[in-house]
Amino acid sequence: MCGIVGYIGGKQAAPVLLDGLTKLEYRGYDSAGIAVLDPDGNIVIEKAKGRLSVLNEKIDGGRAVNGFCGIGHTRWATHGEPSENNAHPHCNDEKTIAAVHNGIIENYTELKDKLIRRGYSFYSATDTEVATKLVDYYYKKYNDPLRAISEFALRVRGSYALAVMNKDYPDTVFAIRKDSPMIIGVNGGEAFLASDVPAILKYTRNVYYVDNLQIARLEKGGVTFYNLDREEVEKETVEITWNAEAAEKGGFEHFMLKEIYEQPRVVTDTVNYVLKNGDFDFSEVGLTDKDFKKIKGIVIVGCGSAYHAGVVMQYVIEDLARVPVRVELASEFRYRNAVLNGELVVAISQSGETADTLAAVRAARDKGLKTMAIVNVLGSTIAREADYVFFTKAGPEISVATTKAYSAQLVAGYAFALKLAKIRGTVEKDEYSRIITELTSLPEKIRELLNCKEEIQKFAAKTLDRHDVFFIGRGLDYAVSVEGSLKLKEISYIHSEAYAAGELKHGTISLIENGTLVFGVLTQKNLIEKTVSNLVETKSRGALIAVVAEEGTNVPADFEQVFRIPVTDGRFAASLAVIPLQLFAYYLSVLRGNDVDKPRNLAKSVTVE
Ligand code: GLU
Repeated sequence: MCGIVGYIGGKQAAPVLLDGLTKLEYRGYDSAGIAVLDPDGNIVIEKAKGRLSVLNEKIDGGRAVNGFCGIGHTRWATHGEPSENNAHPHCNDEKTIAAVHNGIIENYTELKDKLIRRGYSFYSATDTEVATKLVDYYYKKYNDPLRAISEFALRVRGSYALAVMNKDYPDTVFAIRKDSPMIIGVNGGEAFLASDVPAILKYTRNVYYVDNLQIARLEKGGVTFYNLDREEVEKETVEITWNAEAAEKGGFEHFMLKEIYEQPRVVTDTVNYVLKNGDFDFSEVGLTDKDFKKIKGIVIVGCGSAYHAGVVMQYVIEDLARVPVRVELASEFRYRNAVLNGELVVAISQSGETADTLAAVRAARDKGLKTMAIVNVLGSTIAREADYVFFTKAGPEISVATTKAYSAQLVAGYAFALKLAKIRGTVEKDEYSRIITELTSLPEKIRELLNCKEEIQKFAAKTLDRHDVFFIGRGLDYAVSVEGSLKLKEISYIHSEAYAAGELKHGTISLIENGTLVFGVLTQKNLIEKTVSNLVETKSRGALIAVVAEEGTNVPADFEQVFRIPVTDGRFAASLAVIPLQLFAYYLSVLRGNDVDKPRNLAKSVTVE
């Protein structure tokens, strides 16, 4: 959450900072601000409440601020309401030190009290102002900017990616991170800092992934890294292979729609990551056949849609490979004294930075368990800390509501389940080849489905005014229902819930009224009639019924809407059933005039607990 940027080089800093923040706005958009060192050597700070466009206008696209070195921020408020006063950068009273921060300083009240006792005053409600003044305090005490930052790191608890400017060190940006993402890019005489790669892709592809508790000093001549003892450390750059267009809208009205349309490619690339010459090879993931053989149980952890992908993965692994799997919300798993017995812990996270999932990985490792990450971002913290890493090949996902990363996670799960099944001998050779053929035909079927968008658009227009929507299904149809429901509520702001169809009559059916929209997912052959009965029960109480069903599936004629999906192996049906649900959520959000890519109160990459 929240995006930070920094720049030092030969260009005017403000437009570069604003440009970078535009690419990070998906991370937070409560307020924005920049600090630039002006030609007189003073730190000039400009901030504005609301979207980045407000700041952009206020400072004339950056032209109103002169200088070649600066830092910037787009905020997702944790401490203190979204306001200009709470917006970053924050500074000391003399305006000689300014900082931007992503994360939470957990012991900020205690530190604030100490600083107040030492004569400091505070003007905002943020933990970041405390962080800034703590750096200032130690800088004044030791007269050493690196020491000030390492002392800061020794005293604070929590997470941070912090970038600091110091008037005494013109043309320098100091930075440190712990559990919040930060990358640094270099290009000749320029250095860039950002929370995520898309912010700097236009300028460079040579990127350093900063490790936890590493201090960086960005100067025109390059970047120097230090440990907390202020000893220099060597780091290598990584070359980013995405192109800048991957992070642009490419003619689509919204990133979400573009990303929905990228799903056939994403599924192909993710499957091909491990499918070599018709068989699975997990050597890039780091898993040998011997490692697979050792797997006796699996715990999957994730948050939001990644958790939902985990639910699908659980059903598919247990069905194909007959290994016990449990799936848990990372935020619960991390604090629960779970009984574990040598399981492989699979952590799913698009960004690879999700705070709760990262903590779950660490908790698992502390208990001596092996961990596998399914992540979309190379160099992310979870990728670096897990024993095995499956990189989903979704490319940069900008829309806050995930679509293509979820689809990539699903197929990563299928591939893993198939490989495990083969190694354990729970799937016949012919069946194995047949399932792989089916898996590789998914992209074409998704492409076919995307052609039916008008029908979904029309249905969305008809159901624009609903107050409640329910999604029901059984087995894997339930697993995809939870994702359909989340997609809908997060971007349309319509209340929705997903239920295992058999659960409805145990309470929720009392909420069904005339006109309540109930979506049924009907792809699991042996369960279709059961779910249809549950749908009919709601219809008898006035519900409007829409279903997602395979071609050829019998659906009662009085159901109001049927979205057909191509026939596939039931285990992969979630990959197709989710497409109409994504498109439905998308069009409902567009038609309701919402900001589809940046829904209220949300941010992508949840780096706080
Ligand atoms: N805790 C800081 C604030 O509320 C930063 C928030 C964030 O990282 O999203 O301003």
